[in-house]
Amino acid sequence: MTTNPLPNSDWPTLEQGWVWLCGAGPGDPGLLTLHALNALRQADVIVYDALVDKRILEWAGPTTTLEYAGKRGGKPSAKQRDISLRLVELAKQGKRVLRLKGGDPFVFGRGGEEGQTLVQHGIPIRIIPGISAGIGGLAYAGIPVTHRDVNQSVTFVTGHDQSGETPSSLNWKAISDGSQVLVIYMGMKHMERITGELLAAGRAPDEPCAVVTSATTPDQKVLETTLATMVADIKKFSLTPPAIVCVGKSVLMRQTLDWASMAKGEAPRNTDPLGRGRPAETG
Ligand code: SAH
Repeated sequence: MTTNPLPNSDWPTLEQGWVWLCGAGPGDPGLLTLHALNALRQADVIVYDALVDKRILEWAGPTTTLEYAGKRGGKPSAKQRDISLRLVELAKQGKRVLRLKGGDPFVFGRGGEEGQTLVQHGIPIRIIPGISAGIGGLAYAGIPVTHRDVNQSVTFVTGHDQSGETPSSLNWKAISDGSQVLVIYMGMKHMERITGELLAAGRAPDEPCAVVTSATTPDQKVLETTLATMVADIKKFSLTPPAIVCVGKSVLMRQTLDWASMAKGEAPRNTDPLGRGRPAETG
């Protein structure tokens, strides 16, 4: 087997002592980039996170070592600093290191922090973007994060800060006023608090919301709900992380764009999402 499965010779070579920080996308291996595939086939060691789909690791070369960064040494969760320093250590051993992260490494993925630590230790890096769950995961649920009939902006928010709490530094009122559509990562644990903040900031209780769990994987589930009913519905349907939450009218576009159901042979609802008495237009 060649180390480079791609058809021409222009693909970058992962050199010894380098670390490539690479996004693996939200789950479906088909959402990998060709640069990610090129990297998977060259790495001596792949350090991967819990959210990297196991099917993707099957694309690794036959002699590649796979190292899980989620739990090590019996500790419940590897500390971020430990992971960064492990990458430094592997690179200094002369390994070709692939750091594989779910979604995009620079979107709520601490890829920036790891890259900084590596560079501070003199390790050369390359960044390979990936499809972020907040865009690709919602697309698999038939939800476009922007649509001309709905929004001119979209805000990506994390439901956790470094301490694991709802980000106290976030100005929910400003976020709520400033963006018609919110895409919330890591929000499940604090959803009661987050929906409370948004309602207090003036968002409508009946505002459409969607919760998409294990997006783009065979276990994907999509819940359509509202701001007022989301917390109860999450419990009712026993939804568990990882989940992307979308707040805003984009969720209604799913009535026409739920392509995953079409793939299963179901007819789309194809109702007019915005209730204008005519079919949704795309022109
Ligand atoms: N770098 C990642 C995000 C990491 S933060 C990216 O760009 O997608 C982890 C959060 O991402 C999870 O708590 C969840 O909110 C979201 N997430 C990642 N993969 C997901 C998936 N397959 N389905 C739903 N949410 C996902």
